Amino acid sequence: MRRPIIAGNWKMNKTVEEALLFFNELKDLVGGVDDREIIVAPPFISLFSAFNVTKNSNIHLAAQNIYWEKKGAFTGEIAPAMIKDVGCGYVIIGHSERRQFFFENDEMVNKKIKSALEEGITSILCVGESLADREKKLTLSVVGTQISSGLKEVLAEDMEGIVVAYEPIWAIGTGMTASAEQAEEVHLHIRETLNQLYKKEVADSVRILYGGSVKPDNINELMAKPNIDGALVGGAGLDAKSFAKIVLFK
Ligand code: PEP
Repeated sequence: MRRPIIAGNWKMNKTVEEALLFFNELKDLVGGVDDREIIVAPPFISLFSAFNVTKNSNIHLAAQNIYWEKKGAFTGEIAPAMIKDVGCGYVIIGHSERRQFFFENDEMVNKKIKSALEEGITSILCVGESLADREKKLTLSVVGTQISSGLKEVLAEDMEGIVVAYEPIWAIGTGMTASAEQAEEVHLHIRETLNQLYKKEVADSVRILYGGSVKPDNINELMAKPNIDGALVGGAGLDAKSFAKIVLFK
């Protein structure tokens, strides 16, 4: 049985004070939930305070990005050990906004994943096609390549430290969600790709999240699909009540 994950990605939103209000509210709303993993990725600057509020709770923290070097002259970057130090067990890697606005490619994504693994941090590897890719029927090949390149040289025994998030770019922040059927088709392809790269046992154990305009009113339909193991939530994860409703899917 794969334990579902509901993860919230705040992107570049909320001050430290706003973050603390959110975490205190969320703790009350989801306290005692232990059959699913709850993860929130605030901006770096809020992680330390968020850790103090969440450390004895069922809410886990993720960073939204890392750099692959351990330390040194890399102005503006954050190393894996630094996010671990402020309580992050997870990091989002290769979000489409990082690929699009900060020119991250599969090779950089792969380096980041390997550096997170070295530190014992689980990567949430984001993959997904553009609208143009979908229209050209390239969805499965684009996503398959992102998976195999992102996981290059990642060993089967390290796959426990990998979660995949399928996020069609055309569905992110647009209100246009992929239908549960569209998402399931790609999730199944991702699992088949993992099966080819590793073995069935590994492919069956990796959690594959869907992201792209997930809301309280579409989460149940998505979670009913056999290969959808959770959600990566942007906009609807900024409000504690709406995020809690997604966490509490049936
Ligand atoms: C995201 O940023 O990962 C995301 C899925 O955003 P939204 O839920 O707002 O579409």
